[in-house]
Amino acid sequence: MPPPRCPRLPSSLPPWPRLLPTLGSCSRRAVTSSAASSSSPAGCHGNGGRPLRYAVLGAGFAGLSVAWHLLKHSPKNSRVTVDVYDENGVGGGASGVSGGLLHPYSPKVKLLWRGAEFWKECMDLLRSAEQANGATGSDGTSEDEALIWRRGILRPPTTEKAADILLESQSCLQSCSLQVLDSDAAQHLIPGLCVPLKFAVYMPLALNINPKKYLQALFLACQNMADEASTSPSEEREFNMYHKRIDNLQQLSGDYDSVIICLGANASSLPELANKLPLRTCRGVIAEFQLPSDTVEKYGSQSPSILSDAWLAFQGPRTVSVGSTWQWKSDNHASTVSDEEAATAMEELLPKASAVYPGISKWDYIRARAGIRAMPPLTANGSLPLLGCLNDVIGTRSNCAFWLVGGLGARGLLYHGLVGKLTAKAAISGDENMIPSEFTCWKTIKASK
Ligand SMILES: Cc1cc2nc3c(=O)[nH]c(=O)nc-3n(C[C@H](O)[C@H](O)[C@H](O)COP(=O)(O)OP(=O)(O)OC[C@H]3O[C@@H](n4cnc5c(N)ncnc54)[C@H](O)[C@@H]3O)c2cc1C
Repeated sequence: MPPPRCPRLPSSLPPWPRLLPTLGSCSRRAVTSSAASSSSPAGCHGNGGRPLRYAVLGAGFAGLSVAWHLLKHSPKNSRVTVDVYDENGVGGGASGVSGGLLHPYSPKVKLLWRGAEFWKECMDLLRSAEQANGATGSDGTSEDEALIWRRGILRPPTTEKAADILLESQSCLQSCSLQVLDSDAAQHLIPGLCVPLKFAVYMPLALNINPKKYLQALFLACQNMADEASTSPSEEREFNMYHKRIDNLQQLSGDYDSVIICLGANASSLPELANKLPLRTCRGVIAEFQLPSDTVEKYGSQSPSILSDAWLAFQGPRTVSVGSTWQWKSDNHASTVSDEEAATAMEELLPKASAVYPGISKWDYIRARAGIRAMPPLTANGSLPLLGCLNDVIGTRSNCAFWLVGGLGARGLLYHGLVGKLTAKAAISGDENMIPSEFTCWKTIKASK
């Protein structure tokens, strides 16, 4: 079947009143941007038509990456509107609660399929977000306030089998290299670390990010790009955020040229996609700990985060997130965690964390948070995100093209740059062949019930 062309629609206004975003400083700028464009002359690709209109559903890693790339890769001298819809605001889903650990390797420390590209595209987005964050003067000097902690990640194996696998020769990226450290070197990096198999694999350039802060900075980067492009007389970029729940796709189809669905684990809840996506849900709970303020010792500013049977993401000298649980097929989508669920998660996570970092017993439990992963099927290339045009899946005759960026699983942060870029370019050109077939072949797999 030939890939769909992106239809161009006559001008129309959204059927509901425009809602103001609730993201603090974002609201004023979004309104200004809307007002500016509605008073400017119409023009499509500079040809006197109306702007191309894109709706991006979801403001997590996937949605904001798509929005950023739509703004960046739309043709010069064109008029483009990107409207982002999220019922919970920026980072209100799994992205906002995630551990923020970032590296291009599997748990066996094998370079992932297309790992180099995923890594590069993710670094490009991080850089843009950092620049936007720095430009507002809100990049902060305190370690606790950081957007990105560049302290690397250490992976000490805890079983002989895991050790054997880790020691097999591994291909690695120069931009995220691997080193095998003996116990002394590992404990020099992390005093008090337990190294049961006498070595650990170190990824010095791996990162830990503050996911909420990063997403807010990426949102700002989108706004800045739209504002800068709109200073050119022949170009216009409008970027809006709507704090609104989307119940079905039909409500959008008359108003947009393309709708890109980035709803994470909620994508299947749209009636048009029910039972059509091969995704499984998996709830994860993360527990946050702090070192009591009267404790003299602090976690070293250069000491890496730790990946083991549990992971410990250190975010500043006195804060660590420990994760994560894996509750398959959970239908609990709440980001809040009950006392009972938190206690169960702690029973599971603390022994695993203590096995590599016994010092965790000195840290106080502060709170727990949770999110739902949308897990894709395992393929020969690993668990890959689900991308592509959905019009054939939905069976719609609408003039609007519907696209999916879903199934980012447990690696949404690594994946989001490349999948956002591929999908934005496909939506702009109306050509699904811009996306490698490995990401679109899920359409032949029967949806998991
Ligand atoms: C506990 C946990 C820890 C994790 N740790 C890591 C990690 O360390 N590193 C890593 O790379 N990945 C991690 N992940 C995975 C990562 O968080 C996900 O892959 C990623 O967040 C998925 O991004 P997304 O944009 O597809 O979905 P989401 O972030 O869930 O975004 C979907 C958005 O859509 C909105 N939405 C949903 N339904 C509607 C609707 N009907 N109308 C309007 N808006 C709607 C939601 O509010 C949400 O903001 C973790 C996941 C969990 C659960």
